[in-house]
Amino acid sequence: MSSPYIFPAHDIAGLPVAGTDALFPVRRIYCVGRNYAGHAREMGSDPTREPPFFFCKPGDTMAVLPVPPQGVAELPYPPRTGNYHYECELVVAIGKGGSDIAVEDALQHVFGYAVGLDMTRRDLQGQMKDAGRPWEIGKAFDYSAPIGVITRAAQAEGIAQAAITLEVDGAVKQSSHITHLIWSISETIANLSTLFTLQPGDLIFSGTPEGVGAVVRGQTMVAQIDGLAPIALKVV
Ligand code: MN
Repeated sequence: MSSPYIFPAHDIAGLPVAGTDALFPVRRIYCVGRNYAGHAREMGSDPTREPPFFFCKPGDTMAVLPVPPQGVAELPYPPRTGNYHYECELVVAIGKGGSDIAVEDALQHVFGYAVGLDMTRRDLQGQMKDAGRPWEIGKAFDYSAPIGVITRAAQAEGIAQAAITLEVDGAVKQSSHITHLIWSISETIANLSTLFTLQPGDLIFSGTPEGVGAVVRGQTMVAQIDGLAPIALKVV
Protein backbone atom coordinates (compact mmCIF):
# COMPACT_ATOMS: atom_id res chain seq x y z
CA MET A 1 0.00 0.00 0.00
CA SER A 2 1.45 3.34 -0.97
CA SER A 3 0.79 6.35 1.19
CA PRO A 4 -1.57 9.03 -0.15
CA TYR A 5 0.68 11.70 1.40
CA ILE A 6 3.66 13.41 -0.23
CA PHE A 7 5.65 12.79 2.94
CA PRO A 8 4.88 10.61 5.96
CA ALA A 9 1.87 11.87 7.94
CA HIS A 10 2.74 13.24 11.38
CA ASP A 11 2.24 11.18 14.50
CA ILE A 12 -0.71 11.78 16.81
CA ALA A 13 0.05 12.80 20.38
CA GLY A 14 -1.01 10.10 22.84
CA LEU A 15 -1.53 10.35 26.57
CA PRO A 16 -1.24 7.40 28.96
CA VAL A 17 -4.46 6.21 30.61
CA ALA A 18 -4.35 4.76 34.13
CA GLY A 19 -5.02 1.03 34.18
CA THR A 20 -4.24 0.32 30.51
CA ASP A 21 -1.35 0.32 28.07
CA ALA A 22 -3.55 1.98 25.41
CA LEU A 23 -3.06 5.70 24.76
CA PHE A 24 -5.66 8.48 24.55
CA PRO A 25 -5.25 10.00 21.06
CA VAL A 26 -5.21 13.79 21.29
CA ARG A 27 -7.15 15.84 18.73
CA ARG A 28 -7.64 19.50 19.73
CA ILE A 29 -6.76 21.37 22.89
CA TYR A 30 -9.26 23.98 24.01
CA CYS A 31 -8.46 26.25 26.95
CA VAL A 32 -10.76 28.36 29.11
CA GLY A 33 -9.54 31.84 30.02
CA ARG A 34 -9.95 33.34 33.51
CA ASN A 35 -12.13 30.64 35.06
CA TYR A 36 -11.21 31.30 38.70
CA ALA A 37 -12.13 34.66 40.24
CA GLY A 38 -8.76 35.04 41.97
CA HIS A 39 -6.87 34.56 38.72
CA ALA A 40 -9.20 36.89 36.79
CA ARG A 41 -8.43 39.58 39.41
CA GLU A 42 -4.68 39.05 39.28
CA MET A 43 -4.85 39.44 35.49
CA GLY A 44 -6.71 42.74 35.85
CA SER A 45 -10.23 41.57 35.00
CA ASP A 46 -13.55 41.68 36.81
CA PRO A 47 -14.64 38.04 37.30
CA THR A 48 -18.27 38.97 37.89
CA ARG A 49 -18.83 40.37 34.41
CA GLU A 50 -17.14 37.96 32.04
CA PRO A 51 -18.76 35.07 30.17
CA PRO A 52 -16.35 32.18 29.44
CA PHE A 53 -13.95 32.60 26.58
CA PHE A 54 -11.71 30.10 24.84
CA PHE A 55 -8.40 29.81 23.06
CA CYS A 56 -6.57 26.83 21.60
CA LYS A 57 -3.22 25.11 21.74
CA PRO A 58 -2.00 22.66 19.11
CA GLY A 59 -2.77 19.03 19.90
CA ASP A 60 0.32 17.81 18.06
CA THR A 61 3.39 15.99 19.33
CA MET A 62 5.44 19.20 19.52
CA ALA A 63 3.00 20.96 21.85
CA VAL A 64 1.80 18.06 24.00
CA LEU A 65 4.33 16.72 26.50
CA PRO A 66 3.07 13.50 28.15
CA VAL A 67 4.38 13.40 31.73
CA PRO A 68 4.79 10.04 33.50
CA PRO A 69 3.41 9.68 37.04
CA GLN A 70 6.85 8.93 38.51
CA GLY A 71 10.11 10.80 38.21
CA VAL A 72 10.79 14.32 36.98
CA ALA A 73 10.25 15.13 33.30
CA GLU A 74 12.31 17.77 31.53
CA LEU A 75 10.51 20.83 30.17
CA PRO A 76 12.49 22.91 27.66
CA TYR A 77 12.49 26.67 28.34
CA PRO A 78 10.91 28.23 25.25
CA PRO A 79 12.53 30.87 23.02
CA ARG A 80 11.65 34.58 22.82
CA THR A 81 10.46 35.01 26.42
CA GLY A 82 11.78 36.36 29.69
CA ASN A 83 8.55 35.72 31.61
CA TYR A 84 7.67 32.03 31.31
CA HIS A 85 4.62 31.27 33.48
CA TYR A 86 3.00 28.13 34.87
CA GLU A 87 -0.80 27.76 35.05
CA CYS A 88 -1.85 24.57 36.84
CA GLU A 89 -5.15 23.26 35.48
CA LEU A 90 -7.61 20.38 35.52
CA VAL A 91 -7.63 18.90 32.03
CA VAL A 92 -10.87 17.29 30.82
CA ALA A 93 -10.50 14.52 28.23
CA ILE A 94 -13.49 14.17 25.92
CA GLY A 95 -14.52 10.61 25.05
CA LYS A 96 -17.80 11.23 23.24
CA GLY A 97 -18.35 14.06 20.78
CA GLY A 98 -21.28 16.34 20.22
CA SER A 99 -22.54 19.84 19.65
CA ASP A 100 -25.08 21.89 21.61
CA ILE A 101 -24.58 19.54 24.56
CA ALA A 102 -26.93 20.22 27.48
CA VAL A 103 -25.33 21.05 30.85
CA GLU A 104 -27.08 18.07 32.46
CA ASP A 105 -25.69 15.69 29.79
CA ALA A 106 -22.18 17.14 29.65
CA LEU A 107 -20.41 14.73 32.00
CA GLN A 108 -21.49 11.80 29.81
CA HIS A 109 -19.04 13.18 27.23
CA VAL A 110 -16.07 13.05 29.59
CA PHE A 111 -13.64 10.16 29.24
CA GLY A 112 -11.42 11.22 32.11
CA TYR A 113 -9.27 13.85 33.78
CA ALA A 114 -5.60 14.74 34.08
CA VAL A 115 -3.32 17.34 35.60
CA GLY A 116 -1.94 19.81 33.05
CA LEU A 117 0.10 22.97 32.83
CA ASP A 118 -1.02 25.74 30.47
CA MET A 119 2.52 27.07 30.03
CA THR A 120 2.51 30.68 28.90
CA ARG A 121 4.98 33.22 27.50
CA ARG A 122 3.35 35.95 29.60
CA ASP A 123 5.36 38.78 28.08
CA LEU A 124 4.35 37.85 24.53
CA GLN A 125 0.74 37.21 25.58
CA GLY A 126 0.66 40.65 27.23
CA GLN A 127 2.00 42.37 24.13
CA MET A 128 -0.64 40.67 21.99
CA LYS A 129 -3.40 41.53 24.48
CA ASP A 130 -2.36 45.17 24.51
CA ALA A 131 -2.38 45.26 20.70
CA GLY A 132 -5.71 43.42 20.42
CA ARG A 133 -3.96 40.61 18.58
CA PRO A 134 -4.32 36.80 18.86
CA TRP A 135 -2.60 35.01 21.75
CA GLU A 136 -0.97 32.11 19.89
CA ILE A 137 2.62 33.24 20.32
CA GLY A 138 2.04 33.44 24.06
CA LYS A 139 0.13 30.19 24.42
CA ALA A 140 0.58 27.77 21.52
CA PHE A 141 4.34 27.15 21.37
CA ASP A 142 6.33 23.90 21.50
CA TYR A 143 5.98 21.94 24.77
CA SER A 144 3.33 24.40 25.98
CA ALA A 145 1.01 21.60 27.15
CA PRO A 146 2.59 19.17 29.65
CA ILE A 147 -0.13 16.71 30.71
CA GLY A 148 -0.11 13.77 33.12
CA VAL A 149 -1.76 10.37 33.05
CA ILE A 150 -5.50 10.40 32.35
CA THR A 151 -7.72 8.87 35.05
CA ARG A 152 -11.06 7.59 33.82
CA ALA A 153 -14.05 9.61 35.03
CA ALA A 154 -15.51 6.60 36.89
CA GLN A 155 -12.30 6.47 38.97
CA ALA A 156 -12.31 10.23 39.63
CA GLU A 157 -15.70 10.73 41.26
CA GLY A 158 -14.56 13.43 43.70
CA ILE A 159 -12.96 15.58 41.03
CA ALA A 160 -15.49 18.46 41.28
CA GLN A 161 -14.38 19.06 44.90
CA ALA A 162 -10.68 18.24 44.50
CA ALA A 163 -7.81 20.39 45.73
CA ILE A 164 -5.46 21.73 43.05
CA THR A 165 -1.93 22.79 43.93
CA LEU A 166 1.30 23.76 42.26
CA GLU A 167 4.69 23.95 43.96
CA VAL A 168 7.93 25.40 42.64
CA ASP A 169 11.04 23.99 44.34
CA GLY A 170 8.85 22.88 47.25
CA ALA A 171 7.12 26.26 47.80
CA VAL A 172 3.34 26.33 47.27
CA LYS A 173 2.47 28.87 44.55
CA GLN A 174 -1.07 27.87 43.60
CA SER A 175 -3.59 26.31 45.98
CA SER A 176 -7.32 26.17 45.33
CA HIS A 177 -10.22 23.81 44.80
CA ILE A 178 -12.08 22.80 41.65
CA THR A 179 -15.25 24.05 43.39
CA HIS A 180 -13.94 27.59 42.74
CA LEU A 181 -14.34 27.30 38.97
CA ILE A 182 -16.53 30.18 37.76
CA TRP A 183 -17.84 27.93 34.95
CA SER A 184 -18.11 24.29 36.06
CA ILE A 185 -16.83 21.44 33.90
CA SER A 186 -20.39 20.73 32.75
CA GLU A 187 -21.09 24.38 31.94
CA THR A 188 -17.77 24.69 30.12
CA ILE A 189 -18.44 21.64 27.93
CA ALA A 190 -21.99 22.85 27.17
CA ASN A 191 -20.80 26.35 26.22
CA LEU A 192 -17.81 25.15 24.18
CA SER A 193 -20.03 22.70 22.27
CA THR A 194 -22.15 25.59 21.00
CA LEU A 195 -19.03 26.99 19.31
CA PHE A 196 -17.30 23.82 18.09
CA THR A 197 -18.38 20.24 17.48
CA LEU A 198 -16.51 18.33 20.15
CA GLN A 199 -14.86 15.07 19.15
CA PRO A 200 -13.37 12.14 21.05
CA GLY A 201 -9.74 13.04 21.71
CA ASP A 202 -10.38 16.69 22.47
CA LEU A 203 -8.89 18.10 25.65
CA ILE A 204 -10.14 21.08 27.64
CA PHE A 205 -7.82 23.00 29.96
CA SER A 206 -10.40 24.29 32.45
CA GLY A 207 -8.57 27.37 33.73
CA THR A 208 -6.04 28.16 36.44
CA PRO A 209 -6.48 29.47 39.99
CA GLU A 210 -4.64 32.51 41.29
CA GLY A 211 -0.92 32.45 42.01
CA VAL A 212 0.50 32.18 38.50
CA GLY A 213 4.12 33.16 38.16
CA ALA A 214 7.38 32.74 36.35
CA VAL A 215 9.85 29.86 36.36
CA VAL A 216 13.43 29.80 35.15
CA ARG A 217 15.83 27.03 34.10
CA GLY A 218 16.72 24.70 36.94
CA GLN A 219 13.44 25.05 38.83
CA THR A 220 11.14 22.08 39.39
CA MET A 221 7.35 22.30 39.36
CA VAL A 222 5.06 19.72 40.97
CA ALA A 223 1.39 19.95 40.05
CA GLN A 224 -1.28 17.93 41.85
CA ILE A 225 -5.02 17.46 41.83
CA ASP A 226 -6.60 15.10 44.38
CA GLY A 227 -7.34 11.72 42.86
CA LEU A 228 -5.19 12.21 39.73
CA ALA A 229 -1.59 11.32 38.93
CA PRO A 230 0.68 14.27 39.87
CA ILE A 231 3.25 15.64 37.44
CA ALA A 232 6.77 16.89 38.15
CA LEU A 233 8.76 18.90 35.63
CA LYS A 234 12.20 20.46 35.71
CA VAL A 235 12.68 23.48 33.46
CA VAL A 236 15.80 22.94 31.34
MN1 MN B 1 -4.83 28.81 31.42
